[in-house]
Amino acid sequence: MRQRFTSSNPRFNPSSGRRPGAVLATAAVLIAVLLVATNTRSTAGQKYVEHDRSHPLPPVITSGECSTQDKAGAPPSDAIVLFNGKDLSNWEEVEGGGPAKWEVGDGYFQTVPKTGDIQTKDKFGDMQLHVEWATPNPPHGEDQDRGNSGVFLQGLYEVQVLDSYHSVTYADGQASAIYGQYPPQVNACRAPGQWQTYDIIFHGPRFSDEGTLLRRARVTVIQNGVLTQDNVAIMGPTGNHIRPQYTPTPEKMPLRLQDHNHPVRYRNLWVREIPSNWNGD
Ligand code: MG
Repeated sequence: MRQRFTSSNPRFNPSSGRRPGAVLATAAVLIAVLLVATNTRSTAGQKYVEHDRSHPLPPVITSGECSTQDKAGAPPSDAIVLFNGKDLSNWEEVEGGGPAKWEVGDGYFQTVPKTGDIQTKDKFGDMQLHVEWATPNPPHGEDQDRGNSGVFLQGLYEVQVLDSYHSVTYADGQASAIYGQYPPQVNACRAPGQWQTYDIIFHGPRFSDEGTLLRRARVTVIQNGVLTQDNVAIMGPTGNHIRPQYTPTPEKMPLRLQDHNHPVRYRNLWVREIPSNWNGD
């Protein structure tokens, strides 16, 4: 039977014969805990007390509009827009750096098989990334040969794009997988031809000046509003049947999209950069 906190329960009644020495010891422990807590708060770099009116307010932005199947949404006002719906001026070929040869349609662009991967001209580090994609309808092929593309964070870490709707492949190769490393928590895929969303939170790796890995890259993926990757630690650059080790890389690198010989469509791509030293101050 559980003890209750009542005055008739001597075990929990502070006036029930507890010795003065024990009370003093308890008070000392409480003071020590408070001191440690205070010290922890200051060493964590939190310069402000609770509800401090001198704590600067966050910037005000306009948060944008969600997409529908028929219409791409609007990015947040502080986003870097990677595709304006009309041309690929923000993109280039990975091989050679020439103009991206993928095809632009009405508000979207799509892979032109065998033209190669494309990448952003801008470089990004820690970021919030929004991507919308659609695999071919009617579907063609099966397994990995069905609506395959990929979002390569920093050009190295692939969040798989694949038609995984009623189509089976290996777990760490389906849509929303960190390719070859982490299967998604669930298969949240929509049917071929339907627009799907990735909202990705990415924190890149860090290296010491000597090139030692200080922290692995981490990524969270939300597909179609469903959590599929929860802050997983990426093991290194993704690859097919290999898991390469980290090698020192710059803090910012281009975002790459994969040409896997399938006409996968993209629209409404934008990035919000996360300050690398952000700690709430
Ligand atoms: Mg792929």
